Amino acid sequence: MINFQFHMPTRIIFGPGKLNELGTTPFLPGRRALVVISSGGSMVTHGYMQLVQTLLAQNGAESVVFDKIRPSPVVEHVMEGAALAREEHCDFVIGLGGGSAIDSAKAIALMAVNPGSYWDYMPSGSGGRQVPSERALPIVAIPTTAGTGTEADPWTVITREQTREKIGWGNDSTYPVLSIVDPRLTLTVPARMTAMTGMDAFFHAVEAYVSRAQQPTSDLLAQQAVSLITSFLPQVVADGSSIEARTMLSWASTAGGVCESLSSCVSQHSMAHALSAFYPDIPHGAGLVMLSVAYFRYLSRYVPARMVDLAYFMGVDVDSLPEKDQPFAFVGALENLIRQVGLEDLKLSDFGVRREDMPKLAKNALETMGGLFNLTPTQMNERVVTEIFEAAYT
Ligand SMILES: [Zn+2]
Repeated sequence: MINFQFHMPTRIIFGPGKLNELGTTPFLPGRRALVVISSGGSMVTHGYMQLVQTLLAQNGAESVVFDKIRPSPVVEHVMEGAALAREEHCDFVIGLGGGSAIDSAKAIALMAVNPGSYWDYMPSGSGGRQVPSERALPIVAIPTTAGTGTEADPWTVITREQTREKIGWGNDSTYPVLSIVDPRLTLTVPARMTAMTGMDAFFHAVEAYVSRAQQPTSDLLAQQAVSLITSFLPQVVADGSSIEARTMLSWASTAGGVCESLSSCVSQHSMAHALSAFYPDIPHGAGLVMLSVAYFRYLSRYVPARMVDLAYFMGVDVDSLPEKDQPFAFVGALENLIRQVGLEDLKLSDFGVRREDMPKLAKNALETMGGLFNLTPTQMNERVVTEIFEAAYT
């Protein structure tokens, strides 16, 4: 039986060269922007920051820059950015960069107009479970990687270091009102980061496809994203200079974001967040890749028809396989894709993860990101989650 809610309020301007429309669009939601970027310096080195400020000025908007965001952004920087937005009387917030910058922009936009600490509003773990009284300032997303899909969903993932919690949260006001997805901005992303972010997008689509929250539109977009990433990610990792191939990956990423809005991720994301809450050096995409084979080998038993579909959209001739092997064809194709994009060398032990950590990680995943377990198509208790972590350990 089909039943669902369809809500996807973001205006998305998509295509190579489309960043220029920032200078002319009538849909800019304010006159004074806080532009949130990472602390790494790449937005300045590549000239994207200056270009965005010039285009904003052309469109009659002033801008102030906040450049402290680290990978796995933390509460302290959200609060600092929110204070700056208030001091500078910014009336909208732009996230320019990868997922960390855009997620932070969303959290900053919320805290610029709500009292207390960001963590007061987290609905799980040590969060205060309050409901924000005010809508976030309007958010504009300009992604420079193809992976997170945050330009097309309300989710923001922020870490509280003291308690080792990394929690995804969002509400209707943290959807970007405008996202400009210009695949040209991804041409400068190095091969390994392209591989990791591309695999993140792949898992958004795959997880949305098996989630209990699946619906007809997310199904179609997930099928397309899985197929595009399988075809184009190995090519772009080998040679990142083709704008046509980069454009396919940017679209797959944005489509994956829409999937996260219309359907949802499942507990593989809870487990990856637990990993990087304890080991912040693990890039999000890498965490997912290291868990994925063990995770989907487990899940394949419970949603065999969906897994057969996914294998089919990865190009596997499923009908030629014995019936008992068909649900596991996806896992084989996934291992192949991980090899083709050069990530088969990723090992949890190389990031300092210890085998004895597994029960602790499982507990953290269930306590901080339990919501996604409810949307996972089979029930997973702490023992099962620990076993999956152990199976993924090398
Ligand atoms: Zn993700």
